[in-house]
Amino acid sequence: MSKRQTRNCEVPVTPALDLEIDTLAIRAGHERTHELEHSEALFLTSSFVFNSAEEAAERFSGKSPGNVYSRFSNPTVRMFEQRIAAMEGGERAVALASGMSAIVSTCIALLKAGDHVVCSRSVFGTTVVIFEKYLKKFGVECTFVDLPDLQQWEAAIQPNTRMLFLETPSNPLGEVADIRRLSELAKSRDILLVVDNCFCTPVLQRPLELGADIVIHSATKYLDGQGRCVGGVVVGPNQLMEEVYGFLRSGGPTMSPFNAWVFLKGLEVLGVRMRAHCENAQRIAEWLEAQPLVEKVFYGGLPSHPQHELAKQQQSGFGGIVSFRIKGGREEAWRFINGTRLISITANLGDVKTTITHPATTTHGRVSPEARAQAGITENLMRLSIGLESVTDLQEDLARGFAAVQAAPK
Ligand SMILES: *Cc1c(COP(=O)(O)O)cnc(C)c1O
Repeated sequence: MSKRQTRNCEVPVTPALDLEIDTLAIRAGHERTHELEHSEALFLTSSFVFNSAEEAAERFSGKSPGNVYSRFSNPTVRMFEQRIAAMEGGERAVALASGMSAIVSTCIALLKAGDHVVCSRSVFGTTVVIFEKYLKKFGVECTFVDLPDLQQWEAAIQPNTRMLFLETPSNPLGEVADIRRLSELAKSRDILLVVDNCFCTPVLQRPLELGADIVIHSATKYLDGQGRCVGGVVVGPNQLMEEVYGFLRSGGPTMSPFNAWVFLKGLEVLGVRMRAHCENAQRIAEWLEAQPLVEKVFYGGLPSHPQHELAKQQQSGFGGIVSFRIKGGREEAWRFINGTRLISITANLGDVKTTITHPATTTHGRVSPEARAQAGITENLMRLSIGLESVTDLQEDLARGFAAVQAAPK
């Protein structure tokens, strides 16, 4: 190999040892350059050069592998893709500019006019907008069902159903679907099962091992974990990912190499973060359940949760999202939110900083009131994404929220 070719850094991927997820999160997919850097290199370059006109022609024709242009591929983005693919146990990952572009690109790549999708009612609000408004324009119809109800999924399937789409646990109520049973249903009808694994991450749940065909992430959430970057990723078998990649290459919702580098660093501490999120969330959920002004707490780790047993068996932890209904309505919920001082009022989640949001008027504000009611997003519901601050400090802050509600003139 000439020196210039060596500089193109086509170094083999981490050898396929039988490694556990915490190790994969730190080691998988790292490709070193000839500089032998210990930390992953950031290739902040939009394009790549060739040693000769002949090599340029071969690269463009696809005859020789290698980078051409960062809309197509970039070594830092590739390291992120290889790492998350290894963690999810998938053949290949395709990184995209955002979680939504990951969802939209998967649909554009794998669906066509005349196809039908069955989707959980309680998916991310914008996902509903994509199915109801945009895919419909291109002749793809969608039926919405209650996430945990297998019979509804089965009954909604039509001869032209091509995809089942879900998030489990769901946002914001933490409902859980049985991925294995849904995958059996999907396989028996030759339908793709797509799981948005944003809330659990591969540390707590690996849908591909349970029979799903495709896993999607908004990397913006736990994969980054510190609220810095927007990104998304799709993981699945080579054949399907080649279609998603083909759309990405032409359609262009590419992940920035800088963001990929941040996500690589985020993944390295994902294991410790997720376990700490789970521990803090469990303590806050139990504490909330004992508060007199609380009507109901929604957290998979509570025995009062309707799918507690399923969550216990399907996931290795219950995650960091805790939702609760306060006694009263929107006024009480807003008073509570405004009464907190430490917790951030923001719609983002999966951050080391604890956040609070009022789904009915923010994340689910664009969903129709009927659909919102059916999904259980009531006006007195609040969603907490429990971060990694001290639980004592968080409880004191939540207590300030309750005090603000109590102090309100009746
Ligand atoms: C945030 C989110 C998305 C959308 O991701 P973006 O990165 O904001 O585009 C999709 N699904 C779930 C479950 C999310 O929480």
